[in-house]
Amino acid sequence: MSENIRVRFAPSPTGPLHIGGVRTALYNYLFAKKAGGKMILRIEDTDQTRFVPGAEQYIMEAFKWCGIQFDEGINEGGKYGPYRQSERKNMYADYVEQLLKSGNAYYAFDTAEELDTYRKAADTDKQTFIYNTESRKKLHNSLNMSEADVKKLIADGTPYVVRFLIPENTSVEMKDLIRGEISVKSETLDDKVLYKSDGMPTYHLANIVDDHLMKITHVIRGEEWLPSLPLHVLLYQAFGWNMPQFAHLPLLLKPDGNGKLSKRDGDRLGFPVFPLQWKDPKSGETSSGYRENGYYPAAFVNMLALLGWNPGSEQEIFSMDELIEAFSLERVGKSGSKFDPEKAKWFNHQYLIKKTDQEIAEEWIAWLKSEKQLEITADKALKIVGLIKERVQFVHELWNEAIFFIEAPESYDEKVVKKRWKAESPNQMESLAQQLETITDFTASAVDEKVKSWITDNELSMGAVMNALRLLLVGAPKGPHLGDIMEVIGKTESLSRIREGIHALQS
Ligand code: GLU
Repeated sequence: MSENIRVRFAPSPTGPLHIGGVRTALYNYLFAKKAGGKMILRIEDTDQTRFVPGAEQYIMEAFKWCGIQFDEGINEGGKYGPYRQSERKNMYADYVEQLLKSGNAYYAFDTAEELDTYRKAADTDKQTFIYNTESRKKLHNSLNMSEADVKKLIADGTPYVVRFLIPENTSVEMKDLIRGEISVKSETLDDKVLYKSDGMPTYHLANIVDDHLMKITHVIRGEEWLPSLPLHVLLYQAFGWNMPQFAHLPLLLKPDGNGKLSKRDGDRLGFPVFPLQWKDPKSGETSSGYRENGYYPAAFVNMLALLGWNPGSEQEIFSMDELIEAFSLERVGKSGSKFDPEKAKWFNHQYLIKKTDQEIAEEWIAWLKSEKQLEITADKALKIVGLIKERVQFVHELWNEAIFFIEAPESYDEKVVKKRWKAESPNQMESLAQQLETITDFTASAVDEKVKSWITDNELSMGAVMNALRLLLVGAPKGPHLGDIMEVIGKTESLSRIREGIHALQS
């Protein structure tokens, strides 16, 4: 492949980026990097009514977190800038002029109210009003007026829009790298607005002009843009420009497969749909993010990459470099991919256990400090992590799984008390405590040996003793091997828990 490959991600800053958008950007990135090409970030903010403050910064922060780096963009600069469409506003008028001159576009003066009346009338007849090859013949536009009348209206300051003139009775032939050949009859298309008299282009015009001026070779975007493809292809033809290649990515679906996973799903389904937490500036409502939920960015990226693309092998764990190496559009599926929140957690677990205990312990120490205002020694954290990490998917889950290493139980599981705490238990536990007291080097194996020989000597049941002892040390029927727990909490703490437990359960 050539170095001239240029792709772009072109979000509109209308809110936080949805994970589907992150996946689109990721596939663009993988595709470009594999080809030694360039990845561009272009902000499509021509629709100022939908502008949301903070969205642009959010988008950039999200990509930084994911490790997706742009070669050109609003921060990176580049020779095809500016990369924010509102700053390119003056560039589009000439292109509209070009289309008007070549007869590929026309002025339309229908007011919003008039169009609304047509829509309503069509609705009552169970029809849909579209501004197309047929209806435009009867509407208020330059196709049905003399040049002098058109000039006069414009000179008088009458608001207008410029619409694209869809050619009559033709088929638009398109090629999509994922969907293959597509053909659409021109009568089904509407004469979309390209430009408004306030000087703002619409998405369609700005998108095509910018892709052309920025020398984009491949447009890789979500399937929701497929219906716009015929217009885009016709626009390229009208301008007489070479077309980029197109690839429309299948949708990300809700876990049950019923419909698209949308921004509005927010936390409603029990998992985030945004990479980072987002606080809506208007409503003040907060939506959760993968970063704040404790995901590693590499796990998040790995999970997203496999939602719609498959490597053609059993391999599931890929670093970014491995993804770049393995990625191809040929292996992107045609049908939607169901989002699986459990699988997302599984990926995080895989990345967690790939780390050294030392690394996890450092993360946990930092977490304990900031979330619990608690300090534990590096040695203790390291031992706990070694014993517990297989049980958790996130570093923050270590707390619930390991709290008894840090704090003595405050209560004792009632069911266990009923079942395991017998009349003879207090005496037995006290005599076991006395045995443990004699150990000088309080290691797990020394503790184990002592407990075992004491059980054998007294002809007791291993199960009964161990369950009662766990109740006193942990307060609940959970946790790793008791010898390991005692080694970590130490002799003094072990003995104190046994004795305090006996006391607490007596009263
Ligand atoms: N601005 C469009 C969006 O918000 C870009 C679509 C495209 O990639 O052409 O997704």
